[in-house]
Amino acid sequence: MADRPREFALIERCFAPLAAASDEALALRDDAALLKVGRRHDLVVTTDALVAGVHFLADETPEVIAARALRVNLSDLAAMGAEPKAYLLALALPTSIDDPWLSRFAAQLARDQATYSIGLVGGDTVSTPGPLTVCITAVGKVASGCAVTRSGAKLGDRIFVSGTIGDATLGLAALTGRLTVEAEADRVALIGRLRWPEPRIALGRRLAGVAHAMIDVSDGLVADACHICEQAGVGADIRSAVVPVSAAGRAALAVDPSWLPRMLTGGDDYELLFTAPNAAGERIRELAGSAGVCVTEIGLVAREPGVRVLDESGEPIRLERSGFVHF
Ligand code: ADP
Ligand code: MG
Repeated sequence: MADRPREFALIERCFAPLAAASDEALALRDDAALLKVGRRHDLVVTTDALVAGVHFLADETPEVIAARALRVNLSDLAAMGAEPKAYLLALALPTSIDDPWLSRFAAQLARDQATYSIGLVGGDTVSTPGPLTVCITAVGKVASGCAVTRSGAKLGDRIFVSGTIGDATLGLAALTGRLTVEAEADRVALIGRLRWPEPRIALGRRLAGVAHAMIDVSDGLVADACHICEQAGVGADIRSAVVPVSAAGRAALAVDPSWLPRMLTGGDDYELLFTAPNAAGERIRELAGSAGVCVTEIGLVAREPGVRVLDESGEPIRLERSGFVHF
């Protein structure tokens, strides 16, 4: 996680050539693969591995680990516009994991299965001398030709994001003692957003065939906007003043506004970031309403490459981690 550019370079060098023969791999540059299996539907397949101490704090509860592991995968399905169908679970267990822990882990998966209408269909269980590792592969389906990839952004498209941005970054900072949150309710809300991501499946499905490009925000709003722009050979202008921030996030910013750049570049929001033509604005508001999710227009797809985050006077904000996203 800490060294994403190195990870992306490795994938380009070693693994992308293995996928070069198939359009279905989307060049290993999208949220999921898109398998053509019939005339009516395409299968959408994605996998994510979570390692204790890297992708979640090692002392998190089995419930949090189970929910995060499944939901980050469902978020990738949502980002393609897909409906979840089934998942596989591969576990590498250190000896410290006991039966009661596994029962609680499974019970949380059962609750999430009911919430997201998805079932377990396979997996693998091994022991490891290393940290707990949970790898989930999720499979979804989407009407043929309607999946939303990262590469469809067009000049002049509006840029939208669901929900609120930066809560998980603040939640992690609160958990690790780097941020003091005065109101307990705000602290609970921010940490909850880190621990319990909410994959935007209902919204993603409605955007299939409507949005031009879509990604889920896992690396951070700016980095994920860069992923969309790189794929389409365009740029983006994002207005920081309209990026949606939760009440708890606003309270943190009121105490220390310097958190804003970190909220825009930190990860784990698991919101949907998408582009759509100007004319689709009204339709998107309707779809967001029927999905029960807030959607905010935050910027425009532009000709000049790179992602610029502009302050209220239209000046670009300097982002500490801009090197991380190649711009
Ligand atoms: P996301 O954040 O949406 O889960 P990632 O940033 O983890 O996506 O991965 C980016 C792309 O690289 C995805 O298309 C993923 O399938 C691909 N990828 C990552 N690691 C590998 C690997 N070891 N082999 C093949 N493809 C990979
Ligand atoms: Mg993704």
